[in-house]
Amino acid sequence: MIITIDGPAAAGKGTLATYLSKKYHLSYFDTGMVYRAVGIEMLDKKEDINNEQAAEQIAKNLTFLKMLELSTHPEFRGPQGGKNASIVSSYPSVRQALLKMQRDFAQNPVLTDGSRASGVVYDGRDTGTVVCPNADIKLYITASPEVRAERRYKEFQAKGIKISYEDVLSDVKARDDRDSKRSASPLKPAPDAIIIDTSYLNIQEVIEKVCKIIDSQVKKS
Ligand code: C5P
Repeated sequence: MIITIDGPAAAGKGTLATYLSKKYHLSYFDTGMVYRAVGIEMLDKKEDINNEQAAEQIAKNLTFLKMLELSTHPEFRGPQGGKNASIVSSYPSVRQALLKMQRDFAQNPVLTDGSRASGVVYDGRDTGTVVCPNADIKLYITASPEVRAERRYKEFQAKGIKISYEDVLSDVKARDDRDSKRSASPLKPAPDAIIIDTSYLNIQEVIEKVCKIIDSQVKKS
């Protein structure tokens, strides 16, 4: 079973994907990591973030292991990591270079203990439209920019990252803008995606709603 979860930043995709991966024995690919990895390597190598060719070269050489290694960088999940990822992900050549790695993940999915998984849950922006257009279940999770900024702000606070709510909100809006206006794979729901607005739902309610959808789909097949 392949499930894709797309949507804007901080909509709750990661929490949902983690839950679903455990419940349905799926391997989880957080595809934002590939762009964060390229963005962090640009930072480490002191490359100008506007240099598409340098970003493309880094993307072409990225392996899954290298991505995991870069994910331990202190800025990987921080505001700088998010901003760099958003910028490099707008380069068509970078997206192209990272596509095969994302698709190949579904070939032989394994769980963290090394046993075979029953499939994959992907989370990102274009996983239902470009990475896995034949996915069994496609979800598009969204919420208002204010609600998403509030959630991200609390996450940063919990991690001890100092940033104001206003700065988080303007970053969320800037990322939405870049994600939806870029020429390559702009953020949009797949035509066959189920759209869920989580602005007025807590995570438990989202999980219940989604599990019902998956269970009824599994029964039908
Ligand atoms: O989901 P996350 O915030 O980790 O993603 C970082 C950035 O990577 C996003 O702001 C988005 O611009 C980009 N991204 C993308 N396509 C994906 C996943 C993430 O363009 N499938």
